[in-house]
Amino acid sequence: MKVLVANLGSTSFKYRLFEMSAGEEHVLAEGGYERVEDYGAVINDALDTMEKGGAVSSRSEIGAVGFKTVLGRNLSGCVDADEKVLEALEGFAEVAPAHNPAYAAGIRQFREILPSARAVALFETAFYQWVPEAATRYAVPESWHAAGIRRYGFHGASHKFIAERSAELLGRDDVAAVARGLYQSGPREVGQPLRVVSCHLGGSSSVTGIRYGAAIGTSMGFSPQSGLPQNNRVGDLDSGAIPYAGKALGLSMADMERQLTKEGGLLGLSGISNDIREVKAARDAGDEKARLALDVLVHETRRWASSFLFSLGGLDAFTFTAGIGENNPWLRSAVCEGLEEFGVKIDPERNEACKGVEAEISAADSKVKVYVIPANEELVLAREVFRKLTAN
Ligand code: ADP
Repeated sequence: MKVLVANLGSTSFKYRLFEMSAGEEHVLAEGGYERVEDYGAVINDALDTMEKGGAVSSRSEIGAVGFKTVLGRNLSGCVDADEKVLEALEGFAEVAPAHNPAYAAGIRQFREILPSARAVALFETAFYQWVPEAATRYAVPESWHAAGIRRYGFHGASHKFIAERSAELLGRDDVAAVARGLYQSGPREVGQPLRVVSCHLGGSSSVTGIRYGAAIGTSMGFSPQSGLPQNNRVGDLDSGAIPYAGKALGLSMADMERQLTKEGGLLGLSGISNDIREVKAARDAGDEKARLALDVLVHETRRWASSFLFSLGGLDAFTFTAGIGENNPWLRSAVCEGLEEFGVKIDPERNEACKGVEAEISAADSKVKVYVIPANEELVLAREVFRKLTAN
């Protein structure tokens, strides 16, 4: 079956077409568009390109389209991308303004342009459905909780891939099988506990604790605005700062929202860029604000990782993924510094040599395995969509 995975940003569209069967999975085509104004036009162009390039002889061969939807009001999991999904995305559009409107628009366009393909949504929150309540609940009045204000967690597809792949790399095929079938069969404890802390560090970042292949908690909370400082989003911020900043700086709610989503994070801290390569170059040239920006990112990554180390009661693997985690040995080394007491010891040469590829970067005598695992969210999507379509 041909499964198309559609990745929709507020001004971008990326796709990857997979051939999926019970025993085999491979990529037939991929591509993307930046500065998108009209999703319909680029979707048609992508389908034309796949036909002309021979990936499909006709677009009607595509059996399903998978969408990595972020946050739905009262909805999660892997579900048909129907009216209920559109309502759920629109119901939380303000909470995920960079993501939800783009997915709602893209799903509508696909259903019109490619009605023969089944549209399936896999919510990024799905990986967190078994997180213990104590780790999802904010200490807010009951009415806030009833309005849906709780920790949800994001980057679910990415951390799920890490759960599967780290278990395989550790030789724990039993846990890898549980992680793969999580959305069909739920979590299960098999053999000795397997404890992983997964750092997804990229354009947006999160740290997740994983036990027996299922999440026990994550740094992102109610919105993708929380947790670690991100490219240009603020990350965790004391709720008392919002009303105070409004008065002290004379900012409207809209000003504050814009500044915290577009002018915060690495960009806000460094005043230079939202791209870690440029911030690092400035730091190396002696810029103090750039140094502080990177120190904050490292500090926050360690703060979250350490909280899961306690919750898990120990660690078997510590992993790095996504654009920043895969490509910046200096940052991995800073995050792991001084953790030998906890069993984490990096091999400097292995670490330095690893950029954008899968590798073990721990020292031979490190009790905890440290891995770099390239993100593969699209594959998780394609597999879930294929499982859903072959199950019913
Ligand atoms: P997104 O979360 O938008 O999918 P990515 O996971 O691709 O983003 O991460 C993008 C970020 O990763 C960039 O902003 C940049 O900071 C960093 N990055 C990407 N490629 C490299 C590289 N080759 N070297 C260093 N940093 C990189």
